[in-house]
Amino acid sequence: MNPEKRTQAASPRRIAVVGGGAAGLVAAITAAEAGCAVTLFERNDRVGKKILASGNGRCNITNAHLGVDDYFGGDPLFVRHALEQFGFARFKKFCASIGLLLQTKEDGRSYPLSNTALSVATALQEYALTRGVTLRCDADVTAVGKGEEGFTVSCGEDVFGPFERLLIASGSEAAPQLGADASGYGFAASFGHTVMPTYPALVALELDSPLPKKMTGSKQDAEVTLYIDGKAEQRVRGDVLFTRYGVSGFAVLDVSRAASEALLYHQEVKVGLKLLVGYERQSLGEELARLAKRLPAYTIETLLGGLISVKIARCLLESCRIDPSSVASQLPPKSLKAIASTLCDWRFKVSGTHGFKHAEVSGGGVATEEVDARTMASKKVDGLYFAGEVLDIVGRRGGYNLHFAWAGGYLAGRAMAAD
Ligand SMILES: Cc1cc2nc3c(=O)[nH]c(=O)nc-3n(C[C@H](O)[C@H](O)[C@H](O)COP(=O)(O)OP(=O)(O)OC[C@H]3O[C@@H](n4cnc5c(N)ncnc54)[C@H](O)[C@@H]3O)c2cc1C
Repeated sequence: MNPEKRTQAASPRRIAVVGGGAAGLVAAITAAEAGCAVTLFERNDRVGKKILASGNGRCNITNAHLGVDDYFGGDPLFVRHALEQFGFARFKKFCASIGLLLQTKEDGRSYPLSNTALSVATALQEYALTRGVTLRCDADVTAVGKGEEGFTVSCGEDVFGPFERLLIASGSEAAPQLGADASGYGFAASFGHTVMPTYPALVALELDSPLPKKMTGSKQDAEVTLYIDGKAEQRVRGDVLFTRYGVSGFAVLDVSRAASEALLYHQEVKVGLKLLVGYERQSLGEELARLAKRLPAYTIETLLGGLISVKIARCLLESCRIDPSSVASQLPPKSLKAIASTLCDWRFKVSGTHGFKHAEVSGGGVATEEVDARTMASKKVDGLYFAGEVLDIVGRRGGYNLHFAWAGGYLAGRAMAAD
């Protein structure tokens, strides 16, 4: 719009934000503080529902060690400007300005000082209200459009607008029970934007084996290696939890993004579990042989029960086709070697992920090459912006996803308000 016209009318710039999550709230606050009239549309009965669920209700809000390497997508370098402009220190200051203090752990993970996500969602909501943002909750946006007068936002029969700027901050399909769906991608596509195929990430993996079900509930500190088309692509150490469908736990979540993306492109995906971290195949085989000699009456199941949970031991023996009631000292050396090998690299074929319903985030989304990384503005439609998870960027576990939403929201809010 012509700036002269706006001065004559003396009316603040009208901005619509679709989505009251992390990105939408920071954008709304930033634009409102710069004098804009912001209306935020949220389909849930309150804003920030995903924030409330984040970090198991504690909200791992950001990370003190943020870098481009913590992000994935068509062009991970897209995040560079956002991290430079709105990095950890700048975000911490922003939080303090809205009355939210943070605590940072040794590894960089940061949480609200209150240790509750409710503080985060409430601080953002209340601050937005004090800055005059109109929060339209229970407002399910069904269509957006652009005419001569500006942008319109439709919630069923109700049409709002015109707006001079429109921000799509509607998140991804991850966790539909919290209000998520693919509508933002549809809005982007309706404006001619490309949407990269989406896939669940930070999600449990389903395995093509009946064994995990028999080990349900067993947890083990393990090393997980992700194999894609037979090649070791990623190795992480952490908790592995066996479930009725496969595996979950932090180590599994950490390899899940790459696994899920590979599955999307029909690659063969396997996980290799090293259940006794710190032992190598040979030393473990020797240890088992020593134990079997020292305890000649023990069954192999009892012997292994001293190393790992009995549930896991029983399944591992089943996988090696060894009778658990065999007397360990009478097993041929090759059987003990097979057990040691499996303990060091127990391979399972991954048949799928546990789906968007159980995923923390989504990979894929609006192609970043069509969005200006400095402003989050669409390169296709004047006045249109994107921020947060709706974009083709996904971060590692540890506060990185929320941080990209905060930072993108800030850039978009600032740019939408600027002439
Ligand atoms: C269980 C869980 C735990 C997580 N824990 C962490 C964590 O600890 N740390 C971390 O960094 N990340 C975490 N994440 C990821 C993080 O929450 C998201 O990456 C982040 O919230 C994305 O912010 P966003 O604003 O882009 O989208 P969202 O927060 O999803 O916000 C989008 C909003 O838009 C609304 N919306 C969508 N479509 C429409 C429509 N058509 N009309 C109206 N409203 C609409 C949705 O209801 C939603 O409120 C977690 C995610 C989940 C599911």
